[in-house]
Amino acid sequence: MNWLSDIRWLFLDMDHTLVDFELTERKAFADLCAQWSVDDVDTAFATFIEGNRPLWPRLEAGEISAADLRRERQRYWLEKMQVEANPVAVAEHYESCLGDHVDWYAGVPDILLSWQKRFGLALITNGLSNVKRKQLLQMGGLFAAISISEEVGAAKPSPMFFQHTLAQLPDKVMPEQILVVGDNLKADIGGGKGMGFRTCWISHGKALDTKTEGADITVHALPELAAILEKG
Ligand SMILES: [Mg+2]
Repeated sequence: MNWLSDIRWLFLDMDHTLVDFELTERKAFADLCAQWSVDDVDTAFATFIEGNRPLWPRLEAGEISAADLRRERQRYWLEKMQVEANPVAVAEHYESCLGDHVDWYAGVPDILLSWQKRFGLALITNGLSNVKRKQLLQMGGLFAAISISEEVGAAKPSPMFFQHTLAQLPDKVMPEQILVVGDNLKADIGGGKGMGFRTCWISHGKALDTKTEGADITVHALPELAAILEKG
C-alpha cells in the first residue's frame, strides 16, 4: 500500500476505536445507580442501553438535539424501572460519572505515544462536550486537533464536522495525507471517504460485507493498524 507513506495525519474516532466505551458506560452507570439507590444495576443498565442506542442515529441524522438525547435516555430507564427522579438531573450526574472513566483498549496509550512522534493526531468524536472534555483531561494533550460533535454543531459523517478538524491543522494538508480511523462505517468511513481521506475500519472482528469494501484498510483492532503503519 504505497499511499501509506503519504499519511501525515491520523483522524481518530474515540469510542469503540481507542476506548472501550461499553466498559466506561457500565462503570459510570454503576456509579449513578449507587447515588440514586438503584440496586438492580444489571437490569437498569440493560434498560438504559436499550433506550440509548436508537437515539444516536437520530441525533446524527439531526432529528433530535443533544439535550433531547441526554434527557430521553434517562427518562426511558427511569420510567421502566419505576425510579422517581428528574431525568435532567440524572443525566447531569451520569455525564459527570462518564467523564471520570477512560477505558483504553489494550496497548492503545503506547500506540498513541508512538504515533505522536510520526503523525499529527486529531480526535474526531460524535459525543457530548462535557463528557469528552472531562475524559480528555486524562489523555495528556495527545491530540493537536479536537472535534466534538456537540461543540462543532454537526456530527460525522457531515463534511461540516470534518471541516472543523481541518481548520485546526497548523498547515495545509492534502485529503490523501489524512487517514480516518474508526469503527462506524457510516460516520467514520463514509464521512472520511466523502472528504477524500483515506480510511481504516476497526471491525472488532465483525465479518466483512459489501459495505466494508469502501474502507482502504480493515483491521480488527488498533494494534493491527499500528503494525501496518510501522511497515508502511
Ligand atoms: Mg466509534
